[in-house]
Amino acid sequence: MQRRISTQRTLLLLIFAFAICLAAPHVSNAQPAQKKNMKQETTYAIAIHGGAGSSPKRFSDEANKARAESMKKALEIGNKILKEGGTALDAVQKVVEFLENDPQFNAGRGAVFNSKGQHELDASIMDGETKACGAVAGVKTIKNPIALARLVMTETRHVLLAGEGAEEFADGFQDVERVENEYFDTEQTRKAWEKTRRRQQEQEALGKVDFEIHEEDTGSYMGTVGCVALDTHGNLAAATSTGGLTNKKFGRVGDSPIVGAGTFADNNSCAVSCTGIGEQFIRNAAAFNVSARMRFGKATLKDSVNQVLKADLNPGDGGIIAIDKDGNISMEYTTDGMARAAADSKGRFEVIWVEDK
Ligand code: ASP
Repeated sequence: MQRRISTQRTLLLLIFAFAICLAAPHVSNAQPAQKKNMKQETTYAIAIHGGAGSSPKRFSDEANKARAESMKKALEIGNKILKEGGTALDAVQKVVEFLENDPQFNAGRGAVFNSKGQHELDASIMDGETKACGAVAGVKTIKNPIALARLVMTETRHVLLAGEGAEEFADGFQDVERVENEYFDTEQTRKAWEKTRRRQQEQEALGKVDFEIHEEDTGSYMGTVGCVALDTHGNLAAATSTGGLTNKKFGRVGDSPIVGAGTFADNNSCAVSCTGIGEQFIRNAAAFNVSARMRFGKATLKDSVNQVLKADLNPGDGGIIAIDKDGNISMEYTTDGMARAAADSKGRFEVIWVEDK
């Protein structure tokens, strides 16, 4: 009797063990899937700049507060897109569009005046996964130049369209919003333009070419805007938009629409957006240079950004934001201030503008 019970027990145990063996492959398959989901939830990051230039100390508390508030809203837009599994490309575009619509920044509405008292806008966007990129330069009636840059990327075989050609290209899309050039005017940028123009005319009367960039050339601060992001799919993207420099020559194009100078993104290294004296960023292929130092020189993101700003560029030339494929963020500048903001999936969410170095 005793023996029969123990045989039955052994049999039951065997059946139980067999059942576990059958179930085992499913259990072990479930684990990587869970891990993948966890990774999706945990890895995204975003950084924004609102232009390098003057210290916030030069502005009223009210103006600083309004600027920080706008940066916060922009960060919320980008953070939400990434949190919900959206692409880095969509995040950088939507953030830049929001800032283009805000007259406090030198991009879209609020863009500085050129030497003819008009606005010519530049923008670019780049996808780190495919290296696809698009840019527009010197556009005058496009409400959101970054949206048109994205269309150059997706709807043409080109990278950069300029001036009239870019405007004509925009005619082909009903949803590209058009505005009169005066839409971009603000009181503050007009005053800055008048001051800069007077100074430069005085210099010219003396037979001098004024190579120096003064604070008012950038509307007191360089309110160019840029955004870099890493999405949960592991892709990087960058976007930059600007009105350029105050009283710039008609037809002058800065670094912002030049891929490799003002904007760059490559999943093998990082995504970069620059702000500052465009000519300097072009001469030093600044955005590509940050990426190359990481990719070929094996430098960290932080070191690459600092080396470009401090070894290649001159003090006071501007600032750089960059993000790598692990979600590390670097936001550095050699001017007196740079409005900046960053968020990531680990809970970081900060706007840094009111205090400076
Ligand atoms: N980099 C821009 C340009 O030179 C200006 C800026 O960043 O403020 O056009």
